[in-house]
Amino acid sequence: MNRTAAVSIRLEGVRKQYDGGTVAVRELSLELPAGELTVLVGPSGCGKSTILRMINRLIEPSGGRMWLGDDEITAVDPIALRRRIGYVIQNVGLFPHQTVRDNVGTVPKLLGWPKGQVAERTAELLDLVGLDPARYADRYPHELSGGQRQRVGVARALAADPVVLLMDEPFSAVDPIVRGRLQDEFLRLQQTVRKTIVFVTHDVDEAVRLGDRIAVLSEGGQLEQFAPPAEVLSKPANTFVAEFVGADRGIKLLAVTPIPREGLRPLPDGDHEAPSVPVDGSLRDALAALLEGETGWVAVRDGNDVLGILTPEDVYAVLRR
Ligand code: ADP
Repeated sequence: MNRTAAVSIRLEGVRKQYDGGTVAVRELSLELPAGELTVLVGPSGCGKSTILRMINRLIEPSGGRMWLGDDEITAVDPIALRRRIGYVIQNVGLFPHQTVRDNVGTVPKLLGWPKGQVAERTAELLDLVGLDPARYADRYPHELSGGQRQRVGVARALAADPVVLLMDEPFSAVDPIVRGRLQDEFLRLQQTVRKTIVFVTHDVDEAVRLGDRIAVLSEGGQLEQFAPPAEVLSKPANTFVAEFVGADRGIKLLAVTPIPREGLRPLPDGDHEAPSVPVDGSLRDALAALLEGETGWVAVRDGNDVLGILTPEDVYAVLRR
């Protein structure tokens, strides 16, 4: 599935001033590691889409330099560049008069892949995004739900095995329940494909859930903090970040902090009616179980084995770090 190795993306002093004078991005320097999912998050109008679209040169920067691995982005042919970069947007932009199969196969066909190889790749990708090819390949976009269309959009973006995937609010047009499911599936997909992904959202919860790293931006593409989600939540760099991530950042932090396997307190002797949580859950699950039970601690289970217990102090210690 992953035939091309992921590459890093580097921006150095990048600037964008639109005709008419709006400075969307004042001066941004940022290195996005290969094979990681970086989320650009910030309020509407802060320059996120502009940054994304400069990377695939749908928008030309007014200054600064950008690299895709060792290749300088502004030095390569934009058409060739875009074939190496998958791009997924909010309403997907599927071709309405083409079947799912033809939509997904668009870029491989453009690249002149033999027919058999295009067909094989299309089926492989539909499987990967959770759509049974036998059922869906011959449908038209209007015969799909919003969530299914979004999956086809992701499959199409991955079709020619791009080195980079750019995603601009890809899940914001679907309802919250479908969005949660798409986010989970997308995380599993990234485990398989390990692309360098730049993901734009204005939704902090989505950023925290998906990002290996989060770039928090304010107006003018000003980089306020660039760090893994747990660090942004536990140590916001300044008041802008603290306010942007919200007063409930403690709960958000617990949600992204796994339950530890090591260093748990031993199970007390005797019979207990204590609540328990699976060890692959988060500290937020542990806190929820603690609040439901009356024992003052929660057992951590691995299958049927109890590994140890967590107390409220263990959970709150994370918030004080
Ligand atoms: P975001 O994606 O964070 O919502 P954008 O990158 O879309 O922000 O926009 C950043 C700023 O640039 C905004 O002030 C927006 O109005 C302005 N802008 C975006 N596109 C254009 C354009 N084509 N022409 C002029 N101004 C634009």
